[in-house]
Amino acid sequence: MKKILISIPAYNEEENIRPLYEKLKDTLLPLSQEYLFEYLFINDGSSDATVSIVSSLIDKTNDVSLIDLSRNYGKEIAMAAGFDYSTHDAVITIDADLQHPPSLIPEMLKLWDLGYEDVYAKRKQRKGESYLKKSTSKVFYKLLETMSNSPVNPDAGDFRLLDRKAVDALKQLRETQRYTKGLYNWIGFKKISIEFDAEERLYGDSKWSYKSLIKLAVEGITSYTTAPLRISMYFGFIVSAITFIYMIYVLIKTLIFGSDTSGFPSLMIVMLFLGGCQLISIGIVGEYLSRIFIESKRRPLYFIEEIKKAKIENKYRE
Ligand code: UDP
Ligand code: MG
Repeated sequence: MKKILISIPAYNEEENIRPLYEKLKDTLLPLSQEYLFEYLFINDGSSDATVSIVSSLIDKTNDVSLIDLSRNYGKEIAMAAGFDYSTHDAVITIDADLQHPPSLIPEMLKLWDLGYEDVYAKRKQRKGESYLKKSTSKVFYKLLETMSNSPVNPDAGDFRLLDRKAVDALKQLRETQRYTKGLYNWIGFKKISIEFDAEERLYGDSKWSYKSLIKLAVEGITSYTTAPLRISMYFGFIVSAITFIYMIYVLIKTLIFGSDTSGFPSLMIVMLFLGGCQLISIGIVGEYLSRIFIESKRRPLYFIEEIKKAKIENKYRE
C-alpha cells in the first residue's frame, strides 16, 4: 500500500478542524484499499483551541498526528515542517479552512499514479474575495513572471500532491524566508495542474492582511529573482546617459551664450528626482542585504513544542 501524508497547516482554525477531517475521511474512504492515509495537522502557534481539538481527534482516531510548533512561523514554514516530518510516498498539502476541496484528491492520486510528481490544483475563480485582492494578486504574479523570466502559476496555490522525490528536494531548501510557490517551480519535476472552484473559507477570517500580502509580495520577488537589482542598475545607466547629453548641451550653451543664473527650478527637480532614485536603489540593495544577513545566521527553520503521532504511526513508517 502506498503511504500518503495529508499535511494541514492550521493557525487558529478551531472550527474547521473537525469538518475538514470528516470531509477528508468521507472522500478518501473508497481509496483506503489502495492507499494508507495519515492526517497531519501542523499547529502554527494558534491562540485558540486548535491544539486541544486536534488532540481529542488523535485520542478518538488512529490516523491523525500533530506537530505543535513553538510559535507562529507562518504558513510557509508550517508546510516545511510537514515535509520534514514525512516519510511517505507522497505528501498532499491542503488548507485547513476547506477552501481546498478534498474531492480533488482522488484525481490528484490518479495523476500521481500516471507518473506526475507535482500535481497542483489551480483555482478557476475566487469567491468571497474582494476585487482589490483579486486584481493586486494578478498584478503581482504578472510582475514576478516578467522579472524572473520563468512561469509562475498564478492561481496555483499550495493545494498539491508532491511525490517523495519532490518532497526530498524541497527539504533540502532550507531558506528561512520562504516563498514556496517559487520553490515548487525551482525544483522542477513533472508537473500537471487540475482546476477547481475556490470556496469561501468555512469559518474564521483569512489570516492575510494587506500588510502581510505586501510583505509576501516583497519576499516573493526578492527571494525569487534578483531582477530589481538589475533594473535599478539599468535605470542608473539610463539616467547617467541622459544627464551626460544634458551636460554637453549646458556646456556648449554656456560657452556660446555665457552663463545665466536662472535654472534653479530645473536644478531642484533633477536633484530631488535623483535623490529619490538613489534612495529606492539603496532600499532594494538593502532588502537583498537583509536577506543575506538573515540567511547567514543559519538558524533552524522552526522549533517544535511537541509531536503527537497517529496510533498507527509505525504502519506509515514500515
Ligand atoms: N496558516 C498558517 N499560519 C499562518 C497563516 C495561515 O498555518 O500564519 C494556515 C491557515 O490555517 C490555513 C492556510 O494557512 O490552513 C491558509 O491560510 P488562509 O486561509 O488565512 O489564507 P488564504 O486562503 O486567504 O490564502
Ligand atoms: Mg483560506
